Amino acid sequence: MRVRVAVIGAGFGGLGAAVTLRRMGITDFVVLERAGSIGGTWRDNTYPGCACDVPSHLYSFSFAPNPDWPRSFSGQPHIRDYLERVADDFRLRPHLRLNTEVLKARWDGAELRWAIETDAGSYQADVIVSAAGPLADPRLPEVPGLDDFPGRVFHSARWDHDYPLRGKRVAVVGTGASAIQFVPEIQRVVNELAVFQRTPPWVLPRGDRRIAAVERGLHRRLPATAAARRQLIWGSRELVVGAFARHPEWMRVAERLARIHLRRSVADPELRRRLTPDYRIGCKRILLSNDWYPALTRPHVRLIDSGLREVRGSTLVASDGRSFEADAVIFGTGFRATDVPIAHRVTGAAGITMAEEWRDGMAALRGTTTAGFPNLLTLVGPNTGLGHSSIILIIEAQLAYMADYLAKLGTLGSGASGRAALVPRRAAVDAWTDGLRRRLSRSVWNTGGCDSWYLDANGRNTTIWPGTTAEFRRVTRSVRLDEYEVLRHG
Ligand SMILES: Cc1cc2nc3c(=O)[nH]c(=O)nc-3n(C[C@H](O)[C@H](O)[C@H](O)COP(=O)(O)OP(=O)(O)OC[C@H]3O[C@@H](n4cnc5c(N)ncnc54)[C@H](O)[C@@H]3O)c2cc1C
Repeated sequence: MRVRVAVIGAGFGGLGAAVTLRRMGITDFVVLERAGSIGGTWRDNTYPGCACDVPSHLYSFSFAPNPDWPRSFSGQPHIRDYLERVADDFRLRPHLRLNTEVLKARWDGAELRWAIETDAGSYQADVIVSAAGPLADPRLPEVPGLDDFPGRVFHSARWDHDYPLRGKRVAVVGTGASAIQFVPEIQRVVNELAVFQRTPPWVLPRGDRRIAAVERGLHRRLPATAAARRQLIWGSRELVVGAFARHPEWMRVAERLARIHLRRSVADPELRRRLTPDYRIGCKRILLSNDWYPALTRPHVRLIDSGLREVRGSTLVASDGRSFEADAVIFGTGFRATDVPIAHRVTGAAGITMAEEWRDGMAALRGTTTAGFPNLLTLVGPNTGLGHSSIILIIEAQLAYMADYLAKLGTLGSGASGRAALVPRRAAVDAWTDGLRRRLSRSVWNTGGCDSWYLDANGRNTTIWPGTTAEFRRVTRSVRLDEYEVLRHG
């Protein structure tokens, strides 16, 4: 099947792209999604307690406000329902191709088209919009002996709801954003719980509350009030970027708040010591929770502040020799954020995959287009992640860039000269990436003294955008043609 645009993925990014395409009057497109339903992150992460950690009024599309968010930080089922509604309201369903996994995509330089192979047929597309997600594929560490573990093993993003945890001895590996949400929930039902912690996270109080019916009614009747609420949350978050990006020493203020939070939650000084990070706050993602620390003080919960080294039968052994007998192991070990699987499946103009192009670190012009990969835009691409605000703001900025890209492509390809493709000049990509590296070199993410998933195997920060979201919107408002080479048919 031949289409103008093939979107890969039906999470916030892919659905946002579909809305934008329809608004531009483009209907000749498909959204290829490997799963049987839409939602991305919010379909896959169904662990107990899963919720966003950016207030819902900001963690949603500006063009699809939801006056009915039930809580300031809404839970996974509500966010998933919201995305289903977006698909209905914007009439995206006819474009969705579910149960369709992109296995390979190859640039055809003669035809100026992408040839896409999926497990449900082939497609040809003038343009690919890759929205396959920065955190869509779980990362499972290699642990010697794990294959022979007799009990149940799963990752938090693929929660095994058929396995009753009640009365079981459960080990949790990892203390990141997911673990701190599900540990307080599952400790209520399990018999014994051991949490393997390599590095403690910094944790701040979570200002979550129910949004009252009168507030919701007001937002419904007067949409400007919901918009004002969104603006307020957005503005307050923009103010803190300077501390993360330029003045890590200012982060001490937040560190003090986190220490107070820890002191108030944990009476035992020895446990407090083991829960106190030795790196600057913000270096790793700052976590928000009111029930993580209290959960760790429960008598049936053990903190093993050491990584999991090996599994011997049903015994889990930590690097420091401590051990725990378990019926189940749950990995809260994050995602393949700096080695995204889709990059191994896309082959560009020079016959190499995007993963090969990125062997020295992921890099894309304005976070979106990659040297050697014509007519391919990546949403939530390299260095577009945020430490302080909602990724939806980044996605919407990229969608404006995509719209301008397609408009310019249309103009370039009209008339006698025939179809055209755009590919970013390597010099433009390098200049962009060098600028980011310089800025990031003084940021808390690079200097804070931690090892985080923001950094790749070579220690390069290829995930974080070091500016405000307003700046990102400005730099992606339009495509600068001097940064691109135009390829012509024939
Ligand atoms: C538990 C959790 C909580 C989070 N909370 C927040 C938060 O509070 N604030 C925030 O800003 N961010 C948060 N994030 C980050 C979150 O991933 C992004 O906010 C956002 O959901 C990303 O949307 P996306 O569309 O880019 O990717 P995804 O939602 O991951 O969607 C990608 C889609 O692509 C599909 N796909 C992948 N490969 C293929 C293929 N080869 N073929 C076909 N389809 C494919 C996947 O199945 C998936 O449906 C959170 C992430 C997690 C995991």
